[in-house]
Amino acid sequence: MKDYVADWETLKRTDPEVAEAMAAELRRERSTLRLIASENYASPAVLAALGSTMNNKYAEGYPGRRYYGGCEFVDVTERLAVERAKALFGAEHANVQPHAGAQANMAVFGAFLEPRSDDTVLALVLAHGGHLTHGSPVNVSGMWFRFVGYEVDRDTEQLDMDRVADLARTHRPKVILAGFTAYPRVIDFAAFRRIADEVGAILWVDASHFIGLCAGGAYPSPVPYADVVTFTTHKTLRGPRGAIILCREEHAKAIDRAVFPMMQGGPLEHVIAAKAVALKEAMSPEFSEYAARTVRAARALAEGLAEEGLRIVSGGTDSHLVLADLGPLGIGGKQAESVCDEIGVALNKNGIPFDPKPPMDPSGIRVGTPGPATLGMEEAEMKEAASIIGEALRHPSDETVKRRCRARVAELVARFPVYPG
Ligand SMILES: *Cc1c(COP(=O)(O)O)cnc(C)c1O
Repeated sequence: MKDYVADWETLKRTDPEVAEAMAAELRRERSTLRLIASENYASPAVLAALGSTMNNKYAEGYPGRRYYGGCEFVDVTERLAVERAKALFGAEHANVQPHAGAQANMAVFGAFLEPRSDDTVLALVLAHGGHLTHGSPVNVSGMWFRFVGYEVDRDTEQLDMDRVADLARTHRPKVILAGFTAYPRVIDFAAFRRIADEVGAILWVDASHFIGLCAGGAYPSPVPYADVVTFTTHKTLRGPRGAIILCREEHAKAIDRAVFPMMQGGPLEHVIAAKAVALKEAMSPEFSEYAARTVRAARALAEGLAEEGLRIVSGGTDSHLVLADLGPLGIGGKQAESVCDEIGVALNKNGIPFDPKPPMDPSGIRVGTPGPATLGMEEAEMKEAASIIGEALRHPSDETVKRRCRARVAELVARFPVYPG
């Protein structure tokens, strides 16, 4: 019997247009220095699980309690994913079905909050590193629920827990949300827990960005402190696109009901199989080395960018990401992103706290090291990356400089092959 797992040859024959775009994407990943903080390289084993016939199975419900027959094998992989998630993070309950981070977050709203009521969520303001699903007016979270925002301190550009506590006492939120998309420092989960206990709130941590670092022991875990933890599986965790929710046993029923049937239909069992594979990988000593390397590399990148004249927001990083203010170089985020794109460096423009410039052309860039660390890049490579970025951003219109920068990027990425063999 032919093995139909990820049958690349058949795809090339039957749909050359799609196959060519996919091949081009692989070439792009191979030739670009990818510093997007939310991106990574899933392993060949994870990609194989994604390309499997588990895609074909309907399995509404949960293992042992499905609405369809024939679920005995997807039950095996889903149970493996659940047990591995619980073991890896020391959690009481895991739901591995959310299709993506946004859907996991919607399930938390569904489990704990009444839409269009006075139920309040205390969360970081979006402009200081929150996420669209944390109350943006264009997202259903902001349309249906009442948000009160805390900010980072103007001087330290870090969280001020006294200020969070004051806001919690004033607004008595039902849910307090911590965990962000552009916050480079350690979060004081114990302090958030104390505040939540004082005002009787649920503590929800959205660990999407840093969960892989927690798995590898390179960043504090929110699991001992939070009532519920949501996270994406494709960022630092390096698995398939998707998400997982961890919670305390007392909230298990509410969370499971909120994922299915409240928010979703049939679970993506091929993705859940890939989540199980990624979670097993995350239990290995190699993964811990990757997590530590990610943080080391980010610190080196921050130092390097500071030497190139950029101002590092909050003065440094404790995680996989660096937020840098381009102000001292006199270039905007929009142009910086496109100049870097021209030389083969992928990064994103980003607002900085109290940014005087608009979101479409903000003052900063966000860079991250999960991808480079997966490839084995270390501090020296990140110093080289910072030097290349600095040179390009100081001469954004000089074609000779950009040609030289492009050649330096090509030399750097050639030493760290992507999906070799
Ligand atoms: C990425 C991210 C999400 C959304 O994940 P998607 O899979 O893109 O829906 C939610 N919250 C945070 C903090 C994130 O970083």
